[in-house]
Amino acid sequence: MLSVAFGQAKYYTDNLRENILRGIRQKIRRGELSAKAPLGYFNEPRLRTIEPDKKTFNKVKEVLRAFATSEYTLTKIQSKMFSLGLVGARSGKKMPLSSVEHILKNPFYYGHFLYRGELHQGSHKPMITKKLFDQIQQALKDNGKPRKKRKEKKELLFLNFARCGECGYCITADRKIKKSGREYVYYFCTRKSKIQKCQQHRFLREENFSEQVKENCQKVSLPDVWRERYLNKLKIWENENRQTSDLFAQNLKKEISAIKTKLERLTDAYLAEVLELAEYQQTKNALMAEKKTKEEKLSDFERKGNHWLELTRNWILEANQAKNLALQDNFSEMKNYLKKIGSNRRLAAERLEIDFKKPFDLLAKLPAEARGEAPSEATNSIWWTVRGSNSRPPHCKCGALAN
Ligand SMILES: [Zn+2]
Repeated sequence: MLSVAFGQAKYYTDNLRENILRGIRQKIRRGELSAKAPLGYFNEPRLRTIEPDKKTFNKVKEVLRAFATSEYTLTKIQSKMFSLGLVGARSGKKMPLSSVEHILKNPFYYGHFLYRGELHQGSHKPMITKKLFDQIQQALKDNGKPRKKRKEKKELLFLNFARCGECGYCITADRKIKKSGREYVYYFCTRKSKIQKCQQHRFLREENFSEQVKENCQKVSLPDVWRERYLNKLKIWENENRQTSDLFAQNLKKEISAIKTKLERLTDAYLAEVLELAEYQQTKNALMAEKKTKEEKLSDFERKGNHWLELTRNWILEANQAKNLALQDNFSEMKNYLKKIGSNRRLAAERLEIDFKKPFDLLAKLPAEARGEAPSEATNSIWWTVRGSNSRPPHCKCGALAN
């Protein structure tokens, strides 16, 4: 009797576990996360779905957008969240930095979700685009690490602007007062790496730093003459491009369906036990992220069409504006501008190096003589080979700013 009873009990619990797991799997297939809703959402008890929380959804969105601008550190965004009323659930105080970071890294906000290390397509309403999410990840890399507060260092102009070109650690700054009473600001590597012994011992004077920031700004600026010429060219394209084909969209659709096929095959391979779980998950996550990027590109394109023309126009105006910042010696704006258009800003052997984003990198590569205001025959050809914008979709036949 007992063994029968126990046997049944075990059968019952086995069954229960199996049923729960099956339930979870089904939910995941429907794109529903079986867990506590992330901040900005709530678990709808009746439908058992995750829905936007009216009280917090827009606040979290504001926070994510703000962080994507790269103008916030983790501690700053933590304070912003607090001021918006986004506080720790139990403590009612500022949310711990680890939770803040977790929010910034959560793919749930762009419509996917992680379950046991695997990325799934969610059915919930996304808060942001994948593109913004990517920007947030970049901002996290650039200035995400919380730093100890040091009050007097606040006014140091280029603090948190660059990293050491050798060891990758932060560049810090210090004030020194010479015997003459003059005050100098120096920038140098913190040399905090325990693995790598950094050889960068030299100090860079702020004046020298400023000069290099200015030089870099000039490198990516567009002379007035060329602003006008490019804008005229743009007008011609605007006319030409009214009737562009939708080849670009078609290609994207093909690529997306190819990824879908790949995903199906991958799942087949996993089910046939050809692949290990870890291998399967890794490949799947990569494919899912790629699919999402392409889908966004497609819907962007379908919504905006010839948006690249507008982007090119903005680029022309912005690059021309950089010239004025340099003329005005507006160093804090120059700094922000370089932060926006350049990544991997690094300092080594007293030299500042920046990787400019496309298409600003093209300007940076131009020889110095081309940057004069008066166009000469020699520089003409150089400027016309600058390709105006990477945002130009490949279906467009005309080379961007090339003749
Ligand atoms: Zn270093």
